Amino acid sequence: MSKIKIAELFYSIQGEGRYMGVPSVFLRTFGCNFSCRGFGMPRGELSKEVEDIAHTHINIESFQKYQDLPLVSTGCDSYASWDPRFKDLSPLLTTDAIVERIMEILPFGEWRDEHLVITGGEPLLGWQKQFPDLLKHPKMKGLKEITFETNGTQKLTTEFKQYLHTWKYHSDDIDFWRDITFSVSAKLPCSGEPWKDAIKPERVFEYEEYGTAYLKFVIATEEDFADAERAIVEYRSAGFTGHVYLMPVGGVESVYAMNNRNVALLAMKHGLRYSDRLQVPLFKNEWGT
Ligand code: SF4
Repeated sequence: MSKIKIAELFYSIQGEGRYMGVPSVFLRTFGCNFSCRGFGMPRGELSKEVEDIAHTHINIESFQKYQDLPLVSTGCDSYASWDPRFKDLSPLLTTDAIVERIMEILPFGEWRDEHLVITGGEPLLGWQKQFPDLLKHPKMKGLKEITFETNGTQKLTTEFKQYLHTWKYHSDDIDFWRDITFSVSAKLPCSGEPWKDAIKPERVFEYEEYGTAYLKFVIATEEDFADAERAIVEYRSAGFTGHVYLMPVGGVESVYAMNNRNVALLAMKHGLRYSDRLQVPLFKNEWGT
């Protein structure tokens, strides 16, 4: 039976992008190809906050569960979903066990109007092979909408592409529409990741064939916006036709509050969409929100 290493599995409302406000189950897989240590830092500098967790907590094994870990104000706000030092806090679960847990956290014990967010880490790294087993489970039949939250660098496997097509258009015994979304948070230089590794227009163009794909650039300054504009030109040149969102840097309230208004104004000025990150003002971006 297939197994997936799960960093977090929780029920909340989607705070970002196209499905903002929609009640959602979040399945956060373990592992990422980036570390994004530039977020919230002066340009060109990398955050050491996550490294420092190891230094300030002498015995790192004292963290018994994911929720014991501190939140960070710089760098990747979901670091525990890829940092190998915390890998033991993310259990390897069978797809059956994951589905049972999903049924427990759904308000009516079955899919109704909720949507599934498969996030990370980078969920399209290695788990593409396991997702069909999860989605084929009989109790997942009522699911209508899935979002893959990805950094947009991973190629879809042939098998996974075939499965997505089947899930969307050819599932037996369902009398409703299904929808697939790729929410692509492509990483600009303010993330600390190199352009050549992070900006992969041909990947996102490919995602558009299998669902609705949109770009969501996390920015703080005019300089970041200039990077976003350059990236948009590259994505459009590759044939990408989807929407573009600007979202403020800010995994904690103080940083979010410094950026949200300016980023909203930038989005308005340039005719782009603004994405909030509602989990920050509503829930302080705590684990499990
Ligand atoms: S791609 Fe996303 S999950 Fe991976 S390090 Fe960057 S912000 Fe974190």
